[in-house]
Amino acid sequence: MSARLILAKGREKSLLRRHPWIFSGAVVRLEGKAQSGETIDVCDSQGKWLARAAWSPQSQIRARVWSWNQDEAIDIAFFVRRLQSAQHLRDWLAERDNLDSYRLIAGESDGLPGITIDRFGNFLVLQLLSAGAEYQRAPLIAALTQCYPQCAIYDRSDVSVRKKEGLELTQGVVLGELPPEHLPITEHGMKLLVDIQTGHKTGYYLDQRDSRFATRRYAKDRRVLNCFSYTGGFAVSALIGGCTEVVSVDTSQAALDVARQNIELNGLDVNKATFLRDDVFKLLRTYRDSGEKFDLIVMDPPKFVENKNQLAGACRGYKDINMLAMQLLNPGGMLLTFSCSGLMATDLFQKIIADAALDAHRDVQFIEQFRQAADHPVIATYPEGMYLKGFACRVL
Ligand code: SAH
Repeated sequence: MSARLILAKGREKSLLRRHPWIFSGAVVRLEGKAQSGETIDVCDSQGKWLARAAWSPQSQIRARVWSWNQDEAIDIAFFVRRLQSAQHLRDWLAERDNLDSYRLIAGESDGLPGITIDRFGNFLVLQLLSAGAEYQRAPLIAALTQCYPQCAIYDRSDVSVRKKEGLELTQGVVLGELPPEHLPITEHGMKLLVDIQTGHKTGYYLDQRDSRFATRRYAKDRRVLNCFSYTGGFAVSALIGGCTEVVSVDTSQAALDVARQNIELNGLDVNKATFLRDDVFKLLRTYRDSGEKFDLIVMDPPKFVENKNQLAGACRGYKDINMLAMQLLNPGGMLLTFSCSGLMATDLFQKIIADAALDAHRDVQFIEQFRQAADHPVIATYPEGMYLKGFACRVL
C-alpha cells in the first residue's frame, strides 16, 4: 500500500481546484514510508483521498500530482495514455504549421509534472526535473519506446533545478543513435540546425516559433537588430521577410556560428547578415552613443527571474534594454520584445514597456501580442504554465 500524505486542515483547497503542486507548508505528516519520487496518496485532514502524487521530500514542492483518479495506477499504461493525448494536439499542429519538431510534453500542462519532452525529427529529448519524474524514468521510457518505435531517445536532464530535488544532473543517449551535431529541423518552412547534445535547453527554443514566424511580416525593407539571437531563428525569418540587413547579437560564439549556417541552409543572402559576439546591454549603449539606427529590433532575452526576490532587479533589466532599443529605432520602427520569466506577469511587462517608452521620450503603440507556441499549452488549473509573453510595439 502506498504511503499517505495528510494535509493540514483547509489546505486541500488548491487541490480541489486541481492545482498539481503540494507545498511543504500544507503537509502535516506522511503516514507510511516512501522513497524520494515514489507514488503516494494525498488525503485531506479527515483522511479523504484527493490525488495520487509523487513524493519530493527535499523540495519545497513536496508532492506533484500524477492523477486525480483513485483507480488510476502510475505505470507504463498511464504514461502511454498521457503521451497519446499530448500527441493528438501536436499532430494537428504539425500538420497545420508544417513542423517536424515540437514540445511533445509540456510538464504539468500535459498532466506529467516535472517532465519535458521535445521532439526533433526522430529524436526525443527528455528533461526529468523532479524526483517523481526521475523515479518513473523506466516506465516512461518503456511507454516512449512503445509509442515511438522509430525514435531515438536522448536525456538532457543536465539542469540545475534537479539539485532542489536532490537529484544529480544527467545527460546522454537513452536509446538508439547519438544525435548528430547539427540536426536539421523544419519550422514554418524554414530549415534550422539543432544541437541536441550541447545546445541550450533541449537544443532549441521551440516556444518562440510563432513569434519568429510573425517577424517575417514586420521585416520588409527594414534594417534589423536581433538581440539575444541564439542560432538565428529570428534572423532567418527576417531575411525571408525581405529585410535589408540583420545584425544578430549573442554572447555564445557557438550559437552565432550555427546562425550563419542556418542562413546559408535556407539559401538566403549571408552578405545581408552580421554576427556579433557581444553583451547586448553593452552593445545597445555603444550603438546609442554612436548614433546607430535600426527599423526593427527583436529583444528576446534569457530568463531574468528565478525567484520572487529577483523580480525588482529583473524589472529594471527589462526596462533598461527596452528603453535603449526604443532609442535606437528610427521613427515608426518596430520593437518585438519578449519576456520568458514566468514570474513576470503580462500586465507588469506591459507597464515596464510603457515606463521604458517614457524614459526613452518616445510614443509607443502596442500592435500585437505574443505568447508561447501552442505545443506549450497552459492547463487552466496551472496558470503558472503561461511564462512567455511578448509585444510588437510601434515606436513613433
Ligand atoms: N531568440 C532566440 C532565443 C534566445 S535565448 C531564438 O529564437 O532561438 C537567449 C540567448 O541570449 C542565448 O542564446 C544566450 O546565449 C544569450 N545571452 C544571454 N545573456 C546575454 C547577453 N548579456 N548578451 C547577449 N546574449 C546573451
